[in-house]
Amino acid sequence: MTELEAKRIYEMQNHENLVAKCPEPMRQLVEALNIWTEAAVNLYGVISSRDLLDEFDITLMAIDSHNIKGFLMPYVLANKKYFFYDDYVVKRSGLKDLDGVQKLIKDQAGKPRYSPSKAEFAKYADPAHCDMDEKEAWAKVGALIRRAFPQNPSAIKFLRDVRRICKKDRLKDLKKVAAKHQIVFTDQRKAEEFAALVNAALQKTRLQKHKGLTPEEFENNVTSQNLPNLKDYYEIYLDDPCACGSGKLYEDCCYPIQEAKTAQLSKSDCKLFYETWYGLLAFVNERTHTLKEKVIAQYPNSLEDFQFFGMREEVCEKPEWIDKYLAEGQIPADQVEIVRSWRNRYKKGIYLMINYEPEHAVAFDFKTHKAYGIKGISHTISQSAQMELPYKFETVLLPFKDVIVYDTFMGLEQPSENIEIYRGLSGMAKRIAVSKTF
Ligand SMILES: [Zn+2]
Repeated sequence: MTELEAKRIYEMQNHENLVAKCPEPMRQLVEALNIWTEAAVNLYGVISSRDLLDEFDITLMAIDSHNIKGFLMPYVLANKKYFFYDDYVVKRSGLKDLDGVQKLIKDQAGKPRYSPSKAEFAKYADPAHCDMDEKEAWAKVGALIRRAFPQNPSAIKFLRDVRRICKKDRLKDLKKVAAKHQIVFTDQRKAEEFAALVNAALQKTRLQKHKGLTPEEFENNVTSQNLPNLKDYYEIYLDDPCACGSGKLYEDCCYPIQEAKTAQLSKSDCKLFYETWYGLLAFVNERTHTLKEKVIAQYPNSLEDFQFFGMREEVCEKPEWIDKYLAEGQIPADQVEIVRSWRNRYKKGIYLMINYEPEHAVAFDFKTHKAYGIKGISHTISQSAQMELPYKFETVLLPFKDVIVYDTFMGLEQPSENIEIYRGLSGMAKRIAVSKTF
């Protein structure tokens, strides 16, 4: 839709001719409805007049979805916080992108809606209002940014932009926003910490796409929906050089492998793997209280990956936990064999990641001099690692059905010294036959 068309539609549907005189006894009520409408468009971006009145939940003989427009029109024209578009009320910023509004309406269709108490709802009339835990989660992101970039005067603007794109569920713009404010992470660990904190905050941010629910709440309401993923942060463009260091363009190198999704588990196997693994860790956590929160063997999980680290270390140190789990745990039937196959394998190893192939990533075992084909879990390993080959890969390799996976934790290290030796080793290792199973 061109800007001109949008302007024409706006002017036709939001015109002073449409103003209806508000009967004096109703003035207060209509004023309250105006505040309510501002709150609704801040939370949802767009809402049908019908739903707006249902949410407002006052049986008003005199206001219905036909004349609400006339009563609110004076506010539309004076305050410019929202406008009418067909049967919908839309947040003012939607005027710049009516196509986006139509898409939002489509995205929201059939989804549950966040509707807090009246008092809480009205607070959203302030566009900056958010819940306490959302505020706290963002404060953590802010603290990290200030610590990591004390000299960068636009760090605060960066933070504001990150929040904005999270609200719009456009995490994939993160790279652009970071470039705009010259935010460059040189420390891989910091970058990961940042990504984890942003992801945690995003989980608590109310998204218009989810009709005001946070991704976490939404996930509890609707199953089998994909959550936005922090890995989008690492999105590379097709004409960038490939992150594996081959020197080829991403498009001609690892991209086809990632698109084919054959170097990672299928969606259902990914879920099965995580739920099996979380089951074991939940069992351990109930007895060790490594993490205060209760662990639920469910994928996706409201806990962050890194929160499982303590329990995972516990199992690495004492694989006897697996015996105990097999003996005492309530393990779903389809998981028992998988857990049993882990018993002698729950050991950390250091491998040299040497190659990405269509069916797996290939890692060379320094100890046994064997090469293993490893599947990614929710993503390919090249996507998760984003490191130039060859690199050191510290993890626990695990059998899973008839393939090899890793236990979701990867310690990555680019050999900084003797890189030529590693390259030579990698070249040699590529000639070894690859084991795809244990
Ligand atoms: Zn590549």
